[in-house]
Amino acid sequence: MITNVPVIPESAPFNPQQRAWLNGFFAAILSGQSQSPIAGGSMPATSPPAIAAEEDFPWHDSTLPIAERLTLAEGKPIERQLMAAMAQLDCGACGYLCQTYSEAIARGEEKDLTRCSPGGNDTAKALKQLLSINNSKPAPATNGHAKGTNGHAAPAPQKYSRTSPFAAKLISNERLTQIDAPKDTRHVVIDLLDSGIAYQAGDSLGILPVNCPELVKEVLQQLGASGDEPVKNISGETRRIADVLANEVTLARSRPDLLELLAKHAQVPGERETLAAAVAEGGSELLGYDLAELLAKFPSARPSLDDFLAALTRLQPRLYSISSSQLANPKQVTLTVGVVKYESQGRWKHGVASHFLGVRSLPGDDVRVFVQPSPKFRLPSDPTTPVIMVGPGTGIAPFRAFLQERQALGLKGPAWLFFGNQHFDYDFLYRDELSLWLDQGVLSRLDLAFSRDQAEKLYVQHKMLDNAADLWQWLQQGAHFFVCGDAKKMAADVDQVLQAIVMTQGGKTAAEAKQYVAQMAKDKRYHKDVY
Ligand SMILES: Cc1cc2nc3c(=O)[nH]c(=O)nc-3n(C[C@H](O)[C@H](O)[C@H](O)COP(=O)(O)OP(=O)(O)OC[C@H]3O[C@@H](n4cnc5c(N)ncnc54)[C@H](O)[C@@H]3O)c2cc1C
Repeated sequence: MITNVPVIPESAPFNPQQRAWLNGFFAAILSGQSQSPIAGGSMPATSPPAIAAEEDFPWHDSTLPIAERLTLAEGKPIERQLMAAMAQLDCGACGYLCQTYSEAIARGEEKDLTRCSPGGNDTAKALKQLLSINNSKPAPATNGHAKGTNGHAAPAPQKYSRTSPFAAKLISNERLTQIDAPKDTRHVVIDLLDSGIAYQAGDSLGILPVNCPELVKEVLQQLGASGDEPVKNISGETRRIADVLANEVTLARSRPDLLELLAKHAQVPGERETLAAAVAEGGSELLGYDLAELLAKFPSARPSLDDFLAALTRLQPRLYSISSSQLANPKQVTLTVGVVKYESQGRWKHGVASHFLGVRSLPGDDVRVFVQPSPKFRLPSDPTTPVIMVGPGTGIAPFRAFLQERQALGLKGPAWLFFGNQHFDYDFLYRDELSLWLDQGVLSRLDLAFSRDQAEKLYVQHKMLDNAADLWQWLQQGAHFFVCGDAKKMAADVDQVLQAIVMTQGGKTAAEAKQYVAQMAKDKRYHKDVY
């Protein structure tokens, strides 16, 4: 049944013309219309289909339940089945992406099956089960990297890894945003010294953060420990408790095993009951407490230090898209880090790694790093191939690396960047550099969307719509399309608008437009680095 319910709500940040145009597009998709849509169409009263799905990995969709994902991967090689068990967020919490974590397990290089924190116990159990079905014999992984490298050489084996990082030195972490800007984004420069670490534009850098010293101090106080007590760390080695708390375990949020342990040790009945109830309901809001807050709330619950540490999870590395080219500076790597800050339990909290890198670390401090290659996120090997880059906010990082690389190589092929943020005056990242690259022809076109500089919100996908005819022409000329940044909203919106442009400008049906974009991905012309 077709109803007159528009897909794009009135509150969505599109102007009336764009809203009408997109409504027409979605109406055509949902009604199976065979011609390009007419603006102002309608849609059935159902949700829009998930059109941003990854072609090659149908299970790579975090909205699918784990059972369904595993079914979709049945009959595939073990590394793909393992991948289907992950939470599909590519959040980097495990120190890998969903695909690379599963490949590392399949190759037998990664033994820890509990690193997928968003997937939790369900993922860990499924991984264990899949491996035991596979007779506990890890199969050699076929990661497809060689064919996904845009003609570049396959990545060289890395000397340093998440389990064996290199102690690099921080050079600087200056603000890119104005001091009074709502967002705090830092340009982080790291000295790779004589490590010999090699990376390519498009790769990410893994960072092993250090927990906030004040939080470590508070936890020690709550435990009644001085910091020098010898304890067993997660790997069973003996260390000072202060060092383990600083470098090895997650302190920023709680977990069910810890609540259960505290419930067992609580001396005061009220505390015991609250904890037992929280355990029964799967953790409740207590899981959002940091460990100092949790211990302060239950002062009678004090297990032994070793038992306490055994109930914690390992502090995971975070990934950051590299924003420099090694051709410009062989011994340095730069990152573009958005410092995470939020209020919880009545106090300000910071993201562990972004605050460590962007604010707490001082020039000369150690930063433990490793390179996470992204062989599918590379500039095309033919420099005359046009590239379209969509990178709002910190999503600009890999594109700065691409442009720096093109500058270093003296390349001037067609390159079009869509950048956006909240305010032109406060958070136009790398403004001077981008202007220079435009002047030099390293960048041929720059479109900007500052969402809060006018009454109606303006995002990069709106600028794509405004330039639909040109964008279609670039695609027809074989352009590679790159998108980097927010996975939850931006990447899906950009994907939908890309399909809308193919449909309307290319005179295609909705199904043909979807197929065209899927084919771009298959042809390695559509690259995503989203988180
Ligand atoms: C491939 C890849 C590339 C990436 N590239 C970049 C990059 O170039 N630049 C960049 O800045 N980041 C990038 N990231 C993200 C980065 O890895 C980290 O996830 C990010 O910096 C947050 O880590 P953190 O340790 O600072 O925060 P964490 O300590 O992990 O805290 C984040 C958590 O805090 C909680 N939280 C956040 N806000 C709130 C709130 N308002 N209320 C309650 N809870 C909240 C949420 O639970 C959230 O998951 C990338 C990620 C991947 C996977």
